[in-house]
Amino acid sequence: MKTVVFSSKPYDRASLVPMNAGRHDLVFQEPRLNVATAPLAAGAEAVCLFVHDRADAEAIDILANLGVRAIALRCAGFNNVDLAAAANRGIRIARVPAYSPHGVAEHAVALLLTLNRRIHRAYNRVRESNFSLDGLLGFDLHGKTVGVIGTGRIGECFARIMAGFGCRILAYDVFESPSVLAVGAEYGPLERLFSESHIISLHCPLTPRTHHLIDATALGKMRDGTMLINTGRGPLIDTPAVINALKSGRLGALAIDVYEEEEGVFYEDLSGSILPDDQLARLITYPNVLVTGHQAFFTREAMQAIAEVTLSNLDDFAAGRDCPNAVKAG
Ligand code: NAD
Repeated sequence: MKTVVFSSKPYDRASLVPMNAGRHDLVFQEPRLNVATAPLAAGAEAVCLFVHDRADAEAIDILANLGVRAIALRCAGFNNVDLAAAANRGIRIARVPAYSPHGVAEHAVALLLTLNRRIHRAYNRVRESNFSLDGLLGFDLHGKTVGVIGTGRIGECFARIMAGFGCRILAYDVFESPSVLAVGAEYGPLERLFSESHIISLHCPLTPRTHHLIDATALGKMRDGTMLINTGRGPLIDTPAVINALKSGRLGALAIDVYEEEEGVFYEDLSGSILPDDQLARLITYPNVLVTGHQAFFTREAMQAIAEVTLSNLDDFAAGRDCPNAVKAG
């Protein structure tokens, strides 16, 4: 199946090409999909998209008019695709529902440990022969309360690791997971999680209900000095409210792998230009803020799994079979 792979980077090609072994005609394009770049799909039956590609109704119309009949997402989230518009134009969609939840959970823990023990600051200091400890004081994780919002695949892995540190786990989800309960977690209302947690980590999907879940009201319910970790999706957090909470000291530390306005910034080398986003520019100057550029998924195992499932989804599309990873509107 001729497939245009949008937002492709050298590492996408490195994982997809050997696994494909000539099954599908993969055409790699660096631009992100949007209304302006959609014509790059001319002649293809499918497109392969990642998190910053924007398949809105207008882009979907262009794709459908070009003869595209399938979208293979090489990610789990599908908030960047207008599902109803795709259904109206008869375009099938599939995703990679899980690819190493361990990798994402481990990255959340890496952020937490780095931020708590100020490893990012210590690393820079030591390189300049500054061995002073001022400003590097952390806290023991053992005995602390960790709030986990969203206890699906990644949230469960995260809860398991934190339970291993001797933390008390408070969980919040629309469904209680028996395996998370088995780790010793207690489910309860968000208010309780906010008021009792020393650390809060977000692992729920972005939906209209979770958009700005962490806003000024939520921040106002948290303990002074709470550490907030977001490896979910940027818009789970209201960024100006979080900046205010950091400035007032109510929020003690923030680690984010995802950011509300990350599109066009994350995955790009902007080192030779002026960062266009003032909020992000401000956040990365704070000593108690750590930002990574949507890399939590980026492990060898995850890239392998993404390539394998994406190509098998394309196999199903090409054969006109039902696809177990199909995403449907509604
Ligand atoms: P999952 O579907 O296994 O789990 C999501 C959980 O969130 C489910 O248990 C669900 O019931 C719960 N949930 C849904 N609505 C909720 C709400 N309103 N409040 C609280 N909980 C709610 O998904 P997953 O594989 O664990 O992934 C979680 C999220 O992590 C994804 O949606 C994606 O946005 C993000 N993610 C980020 C990266 C990265 O590289 N940073 C990689 C993969 C996934």
